[in-house]
Amino acid sequence: GSIIDSSGTHQSIESDKTMSTESDRMTPRLESVEERDSIWPRQNSLSLKEWDIPYDDLNLGTMIGKGRFGTVYRGNWHGDVAVKILKEDFLDDEHAIEAFKLEVAIFKNTRHENLVLFMGACMKPPRLAIVTSMCKGNTLYTHVHLRRDKFNLNKTTLIAQQISQGMGYLHRRGIVHKDLKSKNIFLENEKVIITDFGLFSVTKLVYDSNLGLGIPYGWLCYMAPELIRNLKPYRPTNEDLQFTKASDTYAFGTIWYELLCGEFPFKSQPPESVIWQVGRGMKQSLSNLQASRDVKDILMMCWTFNADDRPDFNKLFTTLERLPKKRLARSPSHPIQLSRSAES
Ligand code: ADP
Ligand code: MG
Repeated sequence: GSIIDSSGTHQSIESDKTMSTESDRMTPRLESVEERDSIWPRQNSLSLKEWDIPYDDLNLGTMIGKGRFGTVYRGNWHGDVAVKILKEDFLDDEHAIEAFKLEVAIFKNTRHENLVLFMGACMKPPRLAIVTSMCKGNTLYTHVHLRRDKFNLNKTTLIAQQISQGMGYLHRRGIVHKDLKSKNIFLENEKVIITDFGLFSVTKLVYDSNLGLGIPYGWLCYMAPELIRNLKPYRPTNEDLQFTKASDTYAFGTIWYELLCGEFPFKSQPPESVIWQVGRGMKQSLSNLQASRDVKDILMMCWTFNADDRPDFNKLFTTLERLPKKRLARSPSHPIQLSRSAES
C-alpha cells in the first residue's frame, strides 16, 4: 500500500491515476488545509465569520437523537437542516472551544457528493452548534443492525466504493475522520452520505471516577490496534488517541464486515476481551463468512496490524472496482417485477 503523509499531499502515482473523480480534479493539487491556513491566516478567520449563523436565526424543531458530542435537532434555516448542539460540558473548557473552532474551519472546506453539506456554525459560547444539511434515509447502522436489511454484493460494493470516494477526498484534504462508523453513514436512496468527520477531538469519552472508562457500545470494533493499545483506564486525551488515515482505513474494514455479515465483529464479547485480542493482533474469524477470497482480502488488508501496511482509500476504491460483478439475471423481456406482481 502507499502511505500518505500528514499533509495528504504525497500519494502514489498509481493511485493518482486510478482515482480521478470529478471532485478530485477540482481540488488544487498541492494544497492541504493546514498549509493554506498557515499561509493566509487572516483570510481564514474572515471566511470563518462568513459561516457564522446567529443562534437566534435557527428554528429548532424536534430532537433527533443524542450522541457523544451533543444533541442533534431537526431545524429550519432556509430549509431543512440538522443542528448539532455541543454538550455543555465542553463550555468550561477553553481548549475544547478552540478545538471546536479549528474543526469548523476544516469542516467548511469540504465539498463532495458523499459528504454531508456543512452550512454553518454557531460559534458564540454558550451556544456552540454545527448546522448541516438534513440527511434523508437511514444510516447504514439502521439498515444493517436494526432493519436487518441484506444487501447483495453488487450493492454492498457500490456503497463501499462511495465511502471510499468520500474518504479519499477527506484524506486528500488532510482531514482524518476519527469516527467512521455505520451510524455516521447515511444511505439516501442509493447515495452514501458521510457525516461527523473530523469532530472527534471535541468529544470526551464517558469517564466515571468510580466505574472507570465507559466504552460506548459498538465503538471498540472500529478501533485500530494502535489506538486500542493506547487506551488507559482514565479519560483519554488527544495524545492518547492518535487517529490517523490508517485508523480510518481500519474502521472502514469494520463497516465492510458489517455490510457483509449483518453484525459487528467480536459480537457480544466483553470489551476487555476485544481489547486483549485486537491489541495482540487477533482478528474476527471469517470462517463463517460466505464470500470470495477477494472480498475477504479487503477485510484483512484494512485490519492489518501494522498501520503503515493498510491500504489508502484510493487503493480500496480500485480494489472494490475490480471485484467481479454478478450479472443480474434480469432481461427486458423477463423483468423480475413480473413474477412479483403475479403473486400480489
Ligand atoms: P451517533 O452518530 O453516535 O448516532 P450523533 O450525535 O451524531 O450520534 O447523532 C444523533 C442522532 O442524529 C442520530 O440518530 C443520527 O442519525 C442523527 N443525525 C446526525 N446528523 C444528522 C444529519 N445530518 N441528518 C439527519 N440525522 C442526523
Ligand atoms: Mg453521528
